[in-house]
Parts: sequence; structure tokens; C-alpha cells
Amino acid sequence: VSASGPTASRKARIPNEARFICLNRSGRPSPFQADHQEITISQAFESLGLLPELLRAVAEQGYTEPTPIQTQAIPVVLSGRDLLGAAQTGTGKTAGFTLPLLQRLAPFASKSFSPALHPVRCLILTPTRELAIQVYESVKTYGKHIALKPFVVYGGVNINPQIAEMRKGVEILVATPGRLLDLMGQKAVDLRHVQILVLDEADRMLDMGFIPDIKRIINTI
Ligand code: AMP
Repeated sequence: VSASGPTASRKARIPNEARFICLNRSGRPSPFQADHQEITISQAFESLGLLPELLRAVAEQGYTEPTPIQTQAIPVVLSGRDLLGAAQTGTGKTAGFTLPLLQRLAPFASKSFSPALHPVRCLILTPTRELAIQVYESVKTYGKHIALKPFVVYGGVNINPQIAEMRKGVEILVATPGRLLDLMGQKAVDLRHVQILVLDEADRMLDMGFIPDIKRIINTI
């Protein structure tokens, strides 16, 4: 490992599936480069106060600088305050809310298989199935080094596999409103432990007439 000085101390804090990871924030080539995957921890992301597990996921995506919405949103969400963010599509909003919410929930991470230890702690509502799947993929990507279970539910497909998966325990649930209400009706989802609520593309959900559904959902949180 070529890292030295501050980089070396950061390395010690990276969780240790990291056996083959060589950290080199300066971007200098490592003598072990041939045998090791090299990732560069972004100082800009680091200065936002993100956990090493998240910095590692971000580095693996090749992100070097947070986008403006990420720079503004991440510290606010980390501090636990409510936030309303607006930015064009493709400006990194998803990571802007996903990274800090993963950090807020990281203390609850557990590899236990007991469903009781994995209640829904974060609910992310999206207007469409396509967006739900996209957000779910982002949660998996950014949360890959944190033992929190994400899942996605949407309509137009058989509900039974979704019920079975919910019963196993899910911490971060991405959902479209209609299917979520169906699952709640079948007592397959309990939202009493939700601490974080995200309305992704809230303006579009309002345009699409989801207000009554969203109100019904929020009333159970
Ligand atoms: P979004 O606006 O959340 O749909 O993100 C748009 C695209 O930007 C996605 O492909 C992300 O992988 C990518 N992205 C998000 N944050 C960053 C970043 N800080 N640097 C480079 N790419 C990013």
C-alpha cells in the first residue's frame, strides 16, 4: 500500500472487506497496483463528513467532486433537518439524499436475519415504477458497504413475492404509492418505525394526483 501520512490513517478506518483495496488519495500509483484495486477517496466528499463506508462507495463509482445539490443537501440531511431540494434531472439529486440518509441509518446496520431488527426506517416514495427501480439501484450502490437492507415495491407485478420479501425485514423501502397502500392493506408493511421520508419528484407526484395516497401513507408514519 503506497498510502502514507493522513491517507494511511484513513485506510485504517475503512472496513475490511478492504483486503484488496489500496487507497491513495494523492492519486499516485501504488507499487501494488497490479494486485490491488485502487480507489481514490475524494477530499471534497470527505469534507462533507460522510462515513468511510460511503466514501468508499462513492470512490468506487469514480465520483471525485460532489455536485452542487449534493454539496448543499448532504450536510443538511446529515444534521437531521428537513430539506426541500430542486435541481434539474441528472444533477445527482439521488446521491444527494441517499448518501446522508444511509449515514443517518448506519447505526442501525445489522447482519442479523431477525426481521424484528430490520423494520422500515426510511421510506422513499416515487411517482413511477421506473424511477423506483432507479432509486433502489442507487441505494444498493451507495449502501453496498453498510448492512442495511433496501427493497423496492411497485405495481403491475405479482404482489406475493413483495409480501414475502417485506416479511424478511427491509430498512430502506422504495415504493410507488398505490402498491405501498396495497401492501399496507395486506398488513405486509408497517411504517411505525419510519424516521426518514423522501418524496422523490414530489412535484410530479402532485401533478399525477397522488396527494390523497401520500396523505394516507403519511398518516400511518
Ligand atoms: P441523478 O440526478 O441522481 O439521476 O444522477 C445522474 C447521474 O449522475 C447518475 O448516473 C449518477 O451516477 C451520476 N452522479 C451522481 N453524483 C455524481 C458525482 N458527484 N460525480 C459524478 N457523477 C455523479
